[in-house]
Amino acid sequence: MSVKLNTIHEDTITSIATSVSNNAISIIRVSGTKSLDIVSKIFSKDLKKAKSHTIKYGFIKENGSIIDEVLVSVFLSPKSFTCENVVEINCHGGIFVTNKVLEMLLENGARLAEPGEFTKRAFLNGRIDLTQAEAIMDMIEANTNNSLKLASFGLTGQTKELIKRTREKVLEAMLKIEVNIDYPEYEDEEQITENVLIPCLEKLINEMDEVIRKSEVSQVIRNGIKTAIIGKPNVGKSSLLNSLLREEKAIVTSIAGTTRDIVEGEVNIGGIVLKLIDTAGIRVTDDIVEQIGVEKSKKILSEAELVILVLDNSEELSAGDKELLDITKDKNRVVVVNKKDLGSKIDYSLLGEYVLISAYDEKDIDMLQDKIKEICNLKDLQNIDSTYIGNARQIAKLKDARNSLKDALNSLYASYPVDIANIDINMAWTSLGEIMGEVSSDELLDELFSRFCLGK
Ligand code: GDP
Repeated sequence: MSVKLNTIHEDTITSIATSVSNNAISIIRVSGTKSLDIVSKIFSKDLKKAKSHTIKYGFIKENGSIIDEVLVSVFLSPKSFTCENVVEINCHGGIFVTNKVLEMLLENGARLAEPGEFTKRAFLNGRIDLTQAEAIMDMIEANTNNSLKLASFGLTGQTKELIKRTREKVLEAMLKIEVNIDYPEYEDEEQITENVLIPCLEKLINEMDEVIRKSEVSQVIRNGIKTAIIGKPNVGKSSLLNSLLREEKAIVTSIAGTTRDIVEGEVNIGGIVLKLIDTAGIRVTDDIVEQIGVEKSKKILSEAELVILVLDNSEELSAGDKELLDITKDKNRVVVVNKKDLGSKIDYSLLGEYVLISAYDEKDIDMLQDKIKEICNLKDLQNIDSTYIGNARQIAKLKDARNSLKDALNSLYASYPVDIANIDINMAWTSLGEIMGEVSSDELLDELFSRFCLGK
């Protein structure tokens, strides 16, 4: 992928930046070389000499009559979101009036922006890199404090810095190899042998593995954990679910179209979203109709990333309980023995690890939540730092880079010539560049030689 930076866009784009409903205020954005001219044609004041970062009060007018009373913000190139001249019209937030102002801008030479086009321009004009562009979307989609925090690392450029640092280390390795390949006559250059490269790559791969490991946790933070609460009827699944919800005052969203016996919802427990798939209870039965339910539940179980298996403390383990224990034994699961306030009939020795609770006891629910975090490796959520990458595309590219470095390492282990490893190291460099959206092999060479003084 090669992206041309600092492109000058001929056309001036515009769009309503706020939601199209009756609002207190609506904002219409205009960006491009002609934005000051275009807005000046419909605004009561001439903006062509306006200073950057100023707000003008005035009226939008059509054929001399006032359409709206507005505040207009001016951000001159390059100190604007898109790096272009940007004007934002704050008008009264009626649907009709907002659309009317938009139409007038279109009639006067602006083009309707495509979704995300302002951000795209910010990227193409070099104002932000791809990680920051993606972070804008991530921030909008964030639904917990933790996912918001992850997005902020991207937005403030911390993700970019992390990738840049990693990329510089890859470059360092490439640089040494390139010099050896292309300029063997420079005898005073350090000879690159496996002995130099191997430890350097091993260290780098370990560092990348750590970032990838943390970042995979971040995906759980972002996307939530698909959780199935299962158990026989009457063990207390609904009561447990209600307690989990009440505890955190979480919002349950019913998803339309789900079958009668499956209720899906989301619950935020201490910063982690559990995406609940609550079966009406898996029953082990010969009844053919109920068997269909069991099959369906088993399917749900196969999709679940976490299983909360609820058992009844006041009853002996039934054949059904045993089957459930068996079919979930290889899953990420918490065995919950509910109704601890009632006399115990259950044989704990058959359960493996379990938590004993009452669905009505707040402290027990807290304990269960801690257990869930432990099982999902989310214990140190409060320590999220900027070495977490919160974006799936970026993680995938980072893995590509790591895998290429592993390939390079393997060919060095096998004592192949160093320039074979260099091909893989180059690929790692490219993958890392793709994370930020800036890859070009010319650029690679420029960077290589501008940093390395061969004439020395
Ligand atoms: P489900 O069919 O698995 O969803 O079970 P429910 O949540 O509907 O609960 C079945 C019954 O067990 C209800 O009467 C609940 O009030 C009761 N129950 C649930 N949890 C507890 C508990 O911790 N202690 C006691 N004593 N009863 C409970």
